[in-house]
Amino acid sequence: MCATCGCDDTTHTHEHHKRTISVERDVLHENNLLAERNRGYFEAKNIFALNLVSSPGSGKTSLLERTLRDLKARLDFAVIEGDQQTTRDADRIHATGTKVVQINTGKGCHLDAGMIQNAIKGMKPADNSVLFIENVGNLVCPAMFDLGEQERVVIISVTEGDDKPLKYPDMFLSSTVCVINKIDLLPYVPFNMEQCRANATKVNPNLRFVELSCTSGEGLQDWYTWLQSKLPTPVTA
Ligand code: MG
Ligand code: ZN
Repeated sequence: MCATCGCDDTTHTHEHHKRTISVERDVLHENNLLAERNRGYFEAKNIFALNLVSSPGSGKTSLLERTLRDLKARLDFAVIEGDQQTTRDADRIHATGTKVVQINTGKGCHLDAGMIQNAIKGMKPADNSVLFIENVGNLVCPAMFDLGEQERVVIISVTEGDDKPLKYPDMFLSSTVCVINKIDLLPYVPFNMEQCRANATKVNPNLRFVELSCTSGEGLQDWYTWLQSKLPTPVTA
């Protein structure tokens, strides 16, 4: 069940669907207004916000751990972690010495802009910092929820099907970058890299790809180069 729709009506009458659609529209409209406020906050403070989305187990947290450890001497980071339960991911981020807030969504299957607004009020990320938002592992509804981020990074790993971009097109369409993770496992899995990239490009011709492995470190430099190329110029006092 999706908490957005709240749809647990097994009878599924026509009236039920009408109501569901209008509720969903209101929820998304409200979310978009809050997302714009977040965007304004990030712009004013020169914070570069990224929304990391993927199915569970693609390696979002591992990519963050590597990135934070490798770049923390050069950049100021803050992280918002989204999961239904536990602080396990926040604990992993905390261990890297990075400022982190965990959001538990309970039955909810995505983060929304209001949750991000509350989190940034509490954590107060520094001016000129990079804010990573790790969304709940889910390739479906996080696509609909703008959090006010500048970049949306969809992560897929080579242990998944290379047809995922075709099955979950909204997520690949709404993302700006596609990280293909766990490339060290390519010799052992049937994943077809060219096919995956072709499928994703069919959905979103502007999607940019970064192939990497958080385990071997291969390709991480491409990710860091992209990240640093996107950083806004620091505001000078
Ligand atoms: Mg995680
Ligand atoms: Zn959801």
